[in-house]
Amino acid sequence: MTVKQNLLNFDRKGLETFFAEMGEKPFRATQVLKWIHQEGVSDFQLMTNLSKALRQTLTELAEVRLPEIVFEQKSEDGTYKWVLELDGQNRIETVFIPEDGRGTLCVSSQVGCALECTFCSTAKQGFNRNLSTAEIIGQVWVAARALAGKANLTNVVMMGMGEPLLNFNNTVAALNLMMDDFAYGLAKRRVTVSTSGVVPALLRLADVSDVSLAVSLHAPNDALRDVLVPINKKYPIAELLEACKYYIKDEKRRKITFEYVMLSGINDSVEQAHQLTRLLEGIPSKVNLIPFNPFPDTQYTRSSNNAIHRFTAVLKEAGLITTTRKTRGDDIDAACGQLVGKVKDKTKRQLKLQAVAT
Ligand code: SAH
Repeated sequence: MTVKQNLLNFDRKGLETFFAEMGEKPFRATQVLKWIHQEGVSDFQLMTNLSKALRQTLTELAEVRLPEIVFEQKSEDGTYKWVLELDGQNRIETVFIPEDGRGTLCVSSQVGCALECTFCSTAKQGFNRNLSTAEIIGQVWVAARALAGKANLTNVVMMGMGEPLLNFNNTVAALNLMMDDFAYGLAKRRVTVSTSGVVPALLRLADVSDVSLAVSLHAPNDALRDVLVPINKKYPIAELLEACKYYIKDEKRRKITFEYVMLSGINDSVEQAHQLTRLLEGIPSKVNLIPFNPFPDTQYTRSSNNAIHRFTAVLKEAGLITTTRKTRGDDIDAACGQLVGKVKDKTKRQLKLQAVAT
């Protein structure tokens, strides 16, 4: 039995190559992209502008295989969370956050996460595998259909489970589809990759994509960032900020968003705010403060509103655009850092932890 090609794995270029190998013209790619991503059609027989023969061949060789919705939850505040089944072994979570005039889909890039950021519950799950392009863009496909007639999906952020830049090729192909006029047609400022700071991959991304960039900074110095975001030991802040500058080098009006989780007594002092302003001097930036979202067994607590206000005031005084992310969907565990899915941990992190404890 031959394995069928899942056409959700291809961006436009990939699909053009697929059709070229079949002896078909490149414009078949744009036709099929429109059917799949704009019309939501997964049955080739319904793609009426393709010849009958081509429809038949596609039915034999290919498929449009989507993640399956296990369940959908809607929060009191209108946030949706979908738990999606991938392969019988793994589940991921996708979240939609409606706001005035826009709606943001938060998409996962990996099953679990291999990084060990100490304040993130996804990290506690360990890591199993990268998502395919089909599984990444499939989240957008599923959400767009589920929301049809109810809400507008206007923005995508790669801020779900996983580190997108450690799943580089599949993430880039999915981003291409999000921004392709024949697929989802989102403007580059409406599609954001969030990274913990995988510097070499960030430099590569600058050369192949122009999506918006968010960086999980979370600390104003290396000593603290080494603890909160351990990948910092490999790629310290100075290198990360150089890579950020490189990322926006050709576009003077673009800004990088720096995410900063607010952890009470850890990274939220006025002195640390000043340190942060000095760090970001000369980098076109916005700061997005994220009040910490607790999860079971965490050692951290959320900064008080007062602490967040004081911190904000220092940043604003220094001229930094500063916003505080509203906590959304926490009643259904859909808030930042609360996405856990169902992960078969290949890193055996739980066992390692037990071994350390005994
Ligand atoms: N791995 C990527 C994508 C995850 S994005 C990254 O690190 O950027 C999710 C954002 O939520 C990141 O900024 C992450 O650091 C933050 N986050 C993780 N756990 C959180 C928590 N418990 N409370 C608030 N924000 C959290």
